[in-house]
Amino acid sequence: MGGGTAVEWLAPSSLEEALALRAERGGDTTVVAGGSFLAILMNQGFVAPTSLLSLGKVQELRGIDVVDGELRLGAMVSHRAVERDPVIRRDWPVLSRAFGLVASPRVRNQATVGGVLADADYASDPPAVLCAVNARAVLRSPRGVRQVAIDELILGFYETCIAEDELLTEVRVPAALGPAVYRKFRSRSSEDRPCVAVAAARSAGRLRVVVGACAEVPQHYPDVCAEGADGPIDDAVAREIGAVYAKRMAPLSDSRGSAEYRRRVVAVEVRRAVEMVGADGAGNGAGREGAGGEE
Ligand SMILES: Cc1cc2nc3c(=O)[nH]c(=O)nc-3n(C[C@H](O)[C@H](O)[C@H](O)COP(=O)(O)OP(=O)(O)OC[C@H]3O[C@@H](n4cnc5c(N)ncnc54)[C@H](O)[C@@H]3O)c2cc1C
Repeated sequence: MGGGTAVEWLAPSSLEEALALRAERGGDTTVVAGGSFLAILMNQGFVAPTSLLSLGKVQELRGIDVVDGELRLGAMVSHRAVERDPVIRRDWPVLSRAFGLVASPRVRNQATVGGVLADADYASDPPAVLCAVNARAVLRSPRGVRQVAIDELILGFYETCIAEDELLTEVRVPAALGPAVYRKFRSRSSEDRPCVAVAAARSAGRLRVVVGACAEVPQHYPDVCAEGADGPIDDAVAREIGAVYAKRMAPLSDSRGSAEYRRRVVAVEVRRAVEMVGADGAGNGAGREGAGGEE
């Protein structure tokens, strides 16, 4: 066996202990949730932590609860659990669908709700949909607790506002009051990350369309969405919203598509998403439907 340096493994079994260790050790230890993202960074030599703080034994972070109509997902809930939970499937089907479109069952069994937000990868599926349904992340430290919207949490490529003494402990999702869809456009294999991700949610007086995987952070334009906030959305309105999103956005280029290709896909996918949530007028309950297309 080679003589590599031993990595310290901290495995608290309660949230209190985990928070204390995180505060005490700060940036000297690296949090591990499912480990699916971190393992790749470590195997490729991008990071070489000397200490790991595993959340795997913290049962308090594994809850799926509904409190006063709001969904509360513990940070260690797996993607697979979000996909399969009967209450989420019934009342927040767009979340089951979006988490169920991530990679393969093997990855979804490992990857967690907290991990996918904390790694802030621009090409992940869940951030756009969580942003569209107005979810908030709960960040805790011994100093206290704060809740931040998804677009306040994710600041840039692999960058969040989580402080060195904080853990992301929960994600809270308001009651679904209208239709919501998630459309994942893949340009390579069926298990790939999205080339363009579009999430749209509509409730009385409000339309929110969020585009993921095209820029550093999920993109949404409330002024453009205002056009489709009330009343039935006709084809012309949906087309116009798609066109303005495509025009205003400055998409990135990567191995999944050039900026110009993405711009064209955004126009089409945003239009389709708006048509889907708009078909139900002001959104009277079709939130239960949660359909969403793929490429
Ligand atoms: C083969 C493969 C295919 C993939 N395809 C897709 C895809 O199609 N769509 C998609 O969206 N994603 C995809 N992913 C990404 C996968 O979903 C992420 O790797 C996963 O979301 C990270 O979750 P994790 O629990 O494993 O996090 P980890 O790897 O454990 O951690 C990720 C980062 O977040 C930090 N962290 C984790 N939890 C917390 C917390 N509670 N508080 C503070 N910091 C924390 C860690 O320190 C680390 O920096 C794919 C991954 C793989 C390996």
